[in-house]
Amino acid sequence: MTNSRRKKIYEGKAKILYEGPEPGTLIQYFKDDATAFNGEKKATLEGKGVINNRISEYVMTKLGQIGVQNHFIRRLSLREQLIREVEIIPLEVICRNVAAGSLSKRLGLEEGSPLPRSIIEFCLKDDKLNDPLVSEEHITAFNWASTQDIDDIMALTLRVNDFLTGLFLGINITLVDFKIEFGRIWENDFPRIILADEISPDSCRLWDATTNEKLDKDRFRRDLGNVIESYTEVARRLGVMNEMPTVIQGGLH
Ligand code: UDP
Repeated sequence: MTNSRRKKIYEGKAKILYEGPEPGTLIQYFKDDATAFNGEKKATLEGKGVINNRISEYVMTKLGQIGVQNHFIRRLSLREQLIREVEIIPLEVICRNVAAGSLSKRLGLEEGSPLPRSIIEFCLKDDKLNDPLVSEEHITAFNWASTQDIDDIMALTLRVNDFLTGLFLGINITLVDFKIEFGRIWENDFPRIILADEISPDSCRLWDATTNEKLDKDRFRRDLGNVIESYTEVARRLGVMNEMPTVIQGGLH
């Protein structure tokens, strides 16, 4: 069935969710659109959706193999993947290993300085409010998630961080920070928190471990150029480029 005939469930800045082929499933479509600064800066980066679909598939599959349950079921096409429908927890969960971005600004830390330990932060998913930083007190008081949910989310986030740090270090990339989202599924009336959304250079800060060259969305945010080339380099180092269409393998320009 073509997308035009599928029921659109939700359209975000970089992805669209369509009704899936079976109950309890959705189709996640990766757009080429890039936005930054809460949608103030916009562009279309040809091929980004294809690369992020493939990188996210690779990372989610590996995480599933080490027992980090997530929403990914299988890739359907260049830009689409079949996922489990979840109740999204309205939080952006950020995990940081090295100071950068908003943390550097907020606390006056030089970008690139290592943190004493991995730090997890929570932001409320609300574009109108600019995704404000919130504490566990806010999360439980306003019922966005329970204390148990927060414990599960933090434990899963640290497992994702340990795994991704090693995965990227193996291809000479430093995982500076990343953002993930979680959803709730129901198993025999018991809730379980699983990883959802995507993991890609749109949602991670990835620096070449030798040169500190940025290979992520900061190239777009900060007008550094070569955005697609950098995303392609991450895909190439992960070994997923051979499954890309020739137009992307050979360069898009
Ligand atoms: N991030 C994201 N989506 C957001 C905000 C942040 O994917 O809406 C990612 C971002 O790419 C980085 C990490 O989360 O890898 C930490 O971002 P930060 O809080 O430093 O925000 P920024 O500097 O991007 O405003």
